Amino acid sequence: MRAEIDQLAAKIEAHRRAYAQGEPLISDFEYDALEEQLRQLDPQHALLQQPGVAVTGAAKATHAVPMLSLQKTYRVDELLSWIGAREVVGTLKIDGNSLSLVYQYGKLQVAKTRGDGQRGENVTAKSRYIDAIPAQITDDRHLEIRGELCCETASFFALAAEMETLALPRPLSPRNVVAGLLGRKEHHQLARHVSFVACDLLYHDDGALPTTEMDKLAILTALGFALPQPQLLTSTVAVEAYLEQVREKIAADDIPLDGAVFSFNSLAQARALGNTTHHPRGRMAFKWQGETAVAKIDDIVWDTSRFGIVTPVAEIEPVFLNKASIRRVTLHNFANVKLYKLKRGSEIKIVRSGEVIPKFLSVVREGEGELAIPTSCPSCKTALADDGVRLLCTNRDCPARQLRALLNWVKCAAIRDLSEKRLTAMMALGLVQSIPDLYRLTRDDLLRLPRMGERLASRLHAAIAASKKLPPERLLSGLGIRGGGRATWLVLLQVAPTIEALFALSAAEISAAEGFAEKSAQQIHQGLQARRALLDELLAVGVEVIAPPPSQSGRRSGDKYVISGALSQPRAFYQKLIEEHGATLTTSVSANTTAVVTADSNSTSSKVNAARRLKIPLISEQDLLLCLEENAQKNKNT
Ligand SMILES: [Zn+2]
Repeated sequence: MRAEIDQLAAKIEAHRRAYAQGEPLISDFEYDALEEQLRQLDPQHALLQQPGVAVTGAAKATHAVPMLSLQKTYRVDELLSWIGAREVVGTLKIDGNSLSLVYQYGKLQVAKTRGDGQRGENVTAKSRYIDAIPAQITDDRHLEIRGELCCETASFFALAAEMETLALPRPLSPRNVVAGLLGRKEHHQLARHVSFVACDLLYHDDGALPTTEMDKLAILTALGFALPQPQLLTSTVAVEAYLEQVREKIAADDIPLDGAVFSFNSLAQARALGNTTHHPRGRMAFKWQGETAVAKIDDIVWDTSRFGIVTPVAEIEPVFLNKASIRRVTLHNFANVKLYKLKRGSEIKIVRSGEVIPKFLSVVREGEGELAIPTSCPSCKTALADDGVRLLCTNRDCPARQLRALLNWVKCAAIRDLSEKRLTAMMALGLVQSIPDLYRLTRDDLLRLPRMGERLASRLHAAIAASKKLPPERLLSGLGIRGGGRATWLVLLQVAPTIEALFALSAAEISAAEGFAEKSAQQIHQGLQARRALLDELLAVGVEVIAPPPSQSGRRSGDKYVISGALSQPRAFYQKLIEEHGATLTTSVSANTTAVVTADSNSTSSKVNAARRLKIPLISEQDLLLCLEENAQKNKNT
């Protein structure tokens, strides 16, 4: 028994070391299963109490407050039962390396890695090259900021290219490259390709933290740190929608993510629960179970997406992952193909988590022969542009782009009986080029399609006509805007409840809606503007929005309030009161907010700042009661 335990512990320790170096040998899920096995055999084992790996050699730095790990789950039901009725803050879980920054008198004193949680490695000199880590902040107190170092996709390939010119070994992955940089004795300047995202704040002197996690994160923003897109979640539905948003972000692959983190919004609640030696009890990570396998590439085909991105897809000898036979794996972008010399015969490690498309993780063995990267679009033969990471077909009339855009619409509008094959046939006959063309088709047009009888033509014609009426988030998803999935639209529809209002939002307003980084807000804003003509054409052929989102229905006054900071009564008290008066309590300030309720009109919280920027009134608790009464009176009279 003892021997078995020791063997298992040694195995876990070896995997921890490999992981810390960014070279994991097994999937996170497989690793967690090993820890669980040890927990069954010896729940008190020292290894289970220790969140990371001990630092050897190098300059060691002690953590005044231990840097803990996170408890995690792969099951939504487990996550929801842990949350219970509490308000939580969801953030992206960045797949990077934990880092602690200690500031005093407004200056960065020391930057250190997590190490074993008690002592980490001093990496202050390297951190000076990282733009996202300010050397100076506008707060004199002795404080500590914790977060994740990571390498965004675009920076990763720039970094890999620079490492090649320095004759350094090729990085295995964005996570591996950060671990490698932290351990490196020279070439500190390479650290400038790395980003830092702040997740936590601690005061080491008398600084008192605010009462909520959201307000704490607002302080980090005010100090100039990037955040992992926090969102305040007040219901099960909101938590599930947030998870969907995170999945969209993982699929977009702009930044290495491996799940979401949920924290109690009430810091008093989190404090009351305290910590184990391994993790805080007021925080939980959620991940999707991912199975990995090694597969051999048979061929690489290039697909033009509706955004014109020409993506390499590996056709592999079939392998089983999560009980499904996998034959195609996305290689993400041409930069991967170039960097890892992916070609016929290459052996690659792949992962499939949940229902996400199987994807390339790393290369196991290089194949023989020539590297084949296309120079023209496989569909329309236009010469391809290259942004350093991706290949792009810039031809707006590219048949592959049109077909993908149509297929996306068919999926969003849920048109039955309209397969890819039929769409392709329609395009070949010149019947359909763009989405509005679908609604101009007559039954006789459909009869020109191969293998199309009278009955089927009638049914298909009716199905297309029926798809004209659709809810706003499906119409918006159907427009095919990069970065805009269903979850994104549902969040924005809370701020701007009609299509018109949503199209009128500025990039700043989209960014102010909680959870949108400036970059993605701009992308969505530009995407909307670029689709204006398409929307107008769709409305002209009879497409129509039905049933506004649920929060807008019923006998609501339409007034929306936001609370910033602590009031004399708990938030739940005001939520009930506001809803009883037919208004809504929302979590983010937008152009549609009626007023922001705060006990401190001089506050510099993010919500109060947003209110000032958008010229939205700041009111006290007493003012709120008066406003609610007044409105209730008005509604009664009309
Ligand atoms: Zn093309």
